[in-house]
Amino acid sequence: MNILLSQPHMSGREMAYVEEAFSSNWIAPLGPNVNAFEQEVAAYADHPHALATSSGTAALHLALLTLNVGAGDVVFCQSLTFVASVNPIRYVGATPVFIDSEADTWNMSPDALRKALVQAATKGNLPKAVIVVHLYGVVAKIGEIRQLCDEFGVPLIEDAAESLGATWKGHMTGTIGDLGFYSFNGNKIITTSGGGMLLLATEQQKAFALKLATQARENVLHYEHEQVGYNYRLSNVSAGIGRGQLEVIEQRVRARRRVFTRYERMFEGIGVSYQQEIKHARANRWLTAMQLDHFPIGRDQLIHHLADAGIESRPVWKPMHLQPLYQDAEYVTVDGEDVSRRLFENGVCLPSSSNLTIGQQQIVIQAVLATRTFATEKSV
Ligand SMILES: *Cc1c(COP(=O)(O)O)cnc(C)c1O
Repeated sequence: MNILLSQPHMSGREMAYVEEAFSSNWIAPLGPNVNAFEQEVAAYADHPHALATSSGTAALHLALLTLNVGAGDVVFCQSLTFVASVNPIRYVGATPVFIDSEADTWNMSPDALRKALVQAATKGNLPKAVIVVHLYGVVAKIGEIRQLCDEFGVPLIEDAAESLGATWKGHMTGTIGDLGFYSFNGNKIITTSGGGMLLLATEQQKAFALKLATQARENVLHYEHEQVGYNYRLSNVSAGIGRGQLEVIEQRVRARRRVFTRYERMFEGIGVSYQQEIKHARANRWLTAMQLDHFPIGRDQLIHHLADAGIESRPVWKPMHLQPLYQDAEYVTVDGEDVSRRLFENGVCLPSSSNLTIGQQQIVIQAVLATRTFATEKSV
């Protein structure tokens, strides 16, 4: 592939922080870069506490443990997402219940969530937490979801793995829920080559999650353990990369948004649609995801055509309720209409890197438009 879906994009400042780690010999899953990166992310997100982790998945696992979610508990989660939003529910022995998306943002439907909460309350089996996702960096209907969680007294976790820099009413995604997390995996809007960040509200929460992330060692001279812990800290070298990346996050958001706007403009009138930005929200448009509403060829055909032209594109995440892994899980929709399935069946993600050149994007645009001509010719 010549043109990739989402590529790392260095600022040039990363090496300075990494060299600092080397020259001071802090090559460990702790150190000055880790502490500074936590403070810098917390400052950027305007949130009291942040804990750097080895991955976003680890951060979500710690979030569930911090909320005391365990065996026998139920957790509600958006179905249309990457599997990492859900697997940690299983790590702690809890059971996921999947909630359908709405067609505007493609994220958790507040109507479906309300229905599921009412049903659960009637049965006396409210979930221990709700996990909402800001898919592809587009902000979910988070105000309504936050309100519903408050109404039913259920903690909210924001999976902001894809939405660093996206905001709602001036608040960073990841800070609106009780807990939230970011991912710095290689394909995300900024990267540490691999890593994550858990956002917490209190000092006690941070101390609790930090202890679990470092093998749950008791505070005595020798190695004493009362709980099962994990090895979930970010390395000081990786945190150095993160510090260099965070300096340019706003530029990266602007670049990804520009990529989206160009696609939107160039594809006007060809029968496609996109995730909508709700009022007061700024998406980071990590990936431009497109619905083929009235497009002459199907999703897989389009992806194959683009691949032939050296362009990487991908189907939208396959919903969790359709995964063999989670086929037995409950799934709640509004009026039986399966929105997330439809979004999956007709959804394509297009190359959206912040370092995608206009020329490269032009190639993608022409390739998409050419598949239409091809389809029309064939049907004549
Ligand atoms: C990337 C991602 C994660 C997991 O983050 P990792 O750092 O890869 O573990 C979780 N949820 C969503 C929606 C993601 O895209």
